[in-house]
Amino acid sequence: MVSRVIPVDPFDLVIFGGTGDLAQRKILPALFRRYCAGQWPADVQIIGAARGNHSPDKFREIVARSLHEHVPNRSKDTETLSGFLQRINYVPLDAMSENGWANLAGRLKDDRIRAFYFSVGPSLFGPLAERIRAHDMVTKHTRIVVEKPFGHDLDSARTLNATLAAHFDEGQIYRIDHYLGKETVQNLMVVRFGNMLFEPLWNSQYVDHIQITVAETVGIDGREEYYERSGAMRDMVQNHLMQLLCLIAMEPPAKFDPDAVRDEKLKVIRALDPVEPHHIVRGQFAPGPDGLGYREVVGNPRSTTESYVALKAHISNWRWAGTPFYLRTGKRLVARSSVINVMFKDAPHSIFGEEAGRHANALSIRLQPNEGITLKVTIKEPGPGGMRLIDVPLDMSFAEALGPENQDPPDAYERLVMDVIRGNQTLFMRGDEVEAAWAWTDPVIAGWQARGDVPKPYESGSTGPGDAELLMKRDGRLWQGIKP
Ligand code: NAP
Repeated sequence: MVSRVIPVDPFDLVIFGGTGDLAQRKILPALFRRYCAGQWPADVQIIGAARGNHSPDKFREIVARSLHEHVPNRSKDTETLSGFLQRINYVPLDAMSENGWANLAGRLKDDRIRAFYFSVGPSLFGPLAERIRAHDMVTKHTRIVVEKPFGHDLDSARTLNATLAAHFDEGQIYRIDHYLGKETVQNLMVVRFGNMLFEPLWNSQYVDHIQITVAETVGIDGREEYYERSGAMRDMVQNHLMQLLCLIAMEPPAKFDPDAVRDEKLKVIRALDPVEPHHIVRGQFAPGPDGLGYREVVGNPRSTTESYVALKAHISNWRWAGTPFYLRTGKRLVARSSVINVMFKDAPHSIFGEEAGRHANALSIRLQPNEGITLKVTIKEPGPGGMRLIDVPLDMSFAEALGPENQDPPDAYERLVMDVIRGNQTLFMRGDEVEAAWAWTDPVIAGWQARGDVPKPYESGSTGPGDAELLMKRDGRLWQGIKP
């Protein structure tokens, strides 16, 4: 099954921070893949902008090198690569001064989509917004894209929102959470609202609890300074895990339109109870056979920044009252795995007797790796020895089900950047959503600070601190395995 490509209208895209890591590793490779897919018209223009005094040819060389590294198979085709590079330009420019801005303004074409991607640190968002406005570059077709972290807490997120709102309408602001661009995350909504099978059971009457796990094997190398100020709660829970929680828990929106979806997500965040201190476990990876511990990596022997969080959340609304949501995320864990497990309740009565044991259905939605869905169902164990029950997986790997051309699902940035061009904000966070997520996160962090909380050490390559297991065991439950 080959996916259909719907061409977009001509556009100019300016990437502030075009020479930076994110632009080179994610944004430009995503644009290149969409170019290869034939999604662009001929006269698209992509302009990298940063302070470095590169010529356009030098910038094209930098981009070509990144594409060879990140899209090796397609960038070997020299004709395709040179077609893409012809559409790339570069303007040396400083967000903090007037240098380069008149040059940039002169290159943009009127009457076409114009997107400004802020692939720079958040302290530059305000200066960039002001200069885009001052140089009269805002048209009715203008969009801006901003990256995480969107604030460090509620106050800073409010300030950022106010800064952007001074220059752009909310309908022009695209706040990226790249988790929302992942195919399976979008599939969460389709599985729930496109099938009759699941939604009637999607509530506290039938669901015992839900687990959301985002486990990473990587550490924080190269991001030490940022991470030390952030920690897992700010870096992962406030945004990515919160977004997954919203999509799994929200009421059906009336339609798949930006405000309808985001209104429902916002209601979930606002219905979250404050997290009880004994319902949250912080961890920090310790030195182990496979490498340094967190404190050695950041060079701070007293660091109390968490590289792991597990918590139990409650959503106080009609649908979810009494069904806990367990969230966990961490660095340097045993496997890379992002998965949502919807754990259903046992059948109310077993006609097979005590010896048949307890069996409950579980729906696992794998976001990565091997995106797909598994439904655990109970069947009779084959053989003549009576009625013994076993659980078997009904397993659907999307790559297998959809055929070889879909082995390699599009990267989240491909979808999101094209949505910016199409003007579709459904998969982007609205300002009030971000603020509500910080309003829930801030008291947790403030509580740690007030109590002088020190994260529990855990071994690199493990499943996290033992206390996270206890969090579940106290409730008579178990985490599902991290290893896919
Ligand atoms: P980076 O590698 O440090 O790149 C920063 C870019 O900004 C460079 O191109 C730099 O070039 C440019 N820049 C710095 N100061 C500037 C100024 N005054 N005027 C114009 N350009 C300026 O950072 P990054 O990793 O790409 O991250 C960019 C943003 O995305 C950050 O907010 C980060 O938190 C966020 N983010 C990054 C990732 C990732 O995987 N890297 C993931 C999610 C979010 P010059 O020095 O030549 O000006």
